[in-house]
Amino acid sequence: MARPIFSLSKLAGGPQAALPVLMYHRVLPEVDPLQEGLHLARTMDMQFATLARCFKVLPLDEAIDLLAEGRLPPRAVSITFDDGYRDNHDIALPLLQRHGLTATFYVSSGFLNGGTMFHDVMVETIRHAPTGQLDLGLADTQPFEISDIRSRLAALACLVRQVKYLDASHRAELSERLLAALGAKAPQHLMMDDDQVRTLTRAGMSLGGHTTRHLILARLDDAKAWEEIRSNADTLSTLTGHAITSFAYPNGKPGTDYGPQHVEMVQRAGFANAVSTHSGVGTRTASRFEMPRFVLNETSVAGVLMRMLRMTAYPIGA
Ligand SMILES: [Zn+2]
Repeated sequence: MARPIFSLSKLAGGPQAALPVLMYHRVLPEVDPLQEGLHLARTMDMQFATLARCFKVLPLDEAIDLLAEGRLPPRAVSITFDDGYRDNHDIALPLLQRHGLTATFYVSSGFLNGGTMFHDVMVETIRHAPTGQLDLGLADTQPFEISDIRSRLAALACLVRQVKYLDASHRAELSERLLAALGAKAPQHLMMDDDQVRTLTRAGMSLGGHTTRHLILARLDDAKAWEEIRSNADTLSTLTGHAITSFAYPNGKPGTDYGPQHVEMVQRAGFANAVSTHSGVGTRTASRFEMPRFVLNETSVAGVLMRMLRMTAYPIGA
């Protein structure tokens, strides 16, 4: 007999159910030609409306508990945002409230109150580079040829590849150098400030740990990795007066960006669960300290419904 394409029992809730955890980062009011992959407010509005109408959006902590107990309700889903961008407060929060939804916001506390994440330093460097050759003094890298948007996109992709796994001190040095070169063009308010973080929690949203400086844990020695995890949890709980219960591994690829020792550290630090960036859905037998997530990029209601169905109901036996 032919195997059915979907296991509809996974959509019915209970012991067979899978938990989709959606992963968002930034949300922009309009398209940024240098960052076309980022969510737009109007797309997020449609996605949240669809989730509110057709699914049951649960706080992540509650959903993971119910998943482990085999009591997940039908069509459950949880929403997460990573990093602590100001647009999470300015744009995503009102959209969540409009649709009566909750989310968990994973915040790298070292960038709050005027900091700039390394990726954004690179984006703004390429955006503001004058036409001509751009030499950033990177080893084994030719100067970039900067002219139209295509050349800037190519330069940005190359730069991101070159620096992604630089060690922490080299990244920090390069980031400082590029920010100094940007001068007045350096972004000042990309990330939230303390008050905006508190506004999220007062609105009923959850806050999660994401390390202090967003360094890739696998690239740090164990003492530094522990300090990154612990200091971030301390800062966020002091800021909000709440214990921080969920953690997201920076960059989040299992085995590449974090290892078993970091999973153990997250448990030791007192977190109740953690999420990765491995693409998939949570199952009852999966570790609650390595919950997979996925990005919902679909821009139509039908697309959102099909993607959610495909992720939660397929493949059989997964
Ligand atoms: Zn992140």
